[in-house]
Amino acid sequence: TQKVNLLNIEIDNVFKTEVLENLQSGIVFTPNVDHLMKLQGDREFLQAYKMADYKLCDSQILMYASRFLGQPIKEKISGSDFFPAFYNFHKKNENIKVFLLGAAKGVAIKAQEKINAKVQRDIIVGSYSPPFGFETNEAECQKIIEMINRSDATVLAVGLGAPKQEKWIYQYREQLPNIRIFLAIGATLDFEAG
Ligand code: UDP
Repeated sequence: TQKVNLLNIEIDNVFKTEVLENLQSGIVFTPNVDHLMKLQGDREFLQAYKMADYKLCDSQILMYASRFLGQPIKEKISGSDFFPAFYNFHKKNENIKVFLLGAAKGVAIKAQEKINAKVQRDIIVGSYSPPFGFETNEAECQKIIEMINRSDATVLAVGLGAPKQEKWIYQYREQLPNIRIFLAIGATLDFEAG
């Protein structure tokens, strides 16, 4: 796909439907201005970004910037637009089994119940809202890895906010052999649970 370079990040110039139709495997991030600023001074965040397969524009300001550069981005796509579109697109695709990671205690399970009721199958096979500060606790992270690997999930949706969610995916992706698609979804679990 065509890319638009903004502050050294190659943003995909795509419609959401193109991504949904083509996404077989890979890591999906949704850059905004806050991400681009944080990327300037955070090496680990930048490394995570460099290996993302899809970078979808989640910012009206970046849409304007792309237009100014003569390469207008086709559509603004936030995590909270993309994630429901993704599970609706794969409603009947039995190969898509999703694990939800993130949000405050009790929120991910609620999102799981609501989404499964909406699509009328158990498309969400597991969920977990980790305690505050878990990302610095390696034992806790290993417990989560086991939970995800046992769940039979093929997709991991991580809603921990940026840059936590992108770094977590970057750090642990190789310990999650069954996961083919990684989605960084920001505050989406709050919306899905609410
Ligand atoms: N969050 C979390 N653990 C943390 C920090 C945040 O699970 O240590 C969750 C928070 O509950 C919310 C989500 O991350 O559901 C996104 O937060 P925020 O709105 O800050 O992120 P953004 O959407 O701007 O990336």
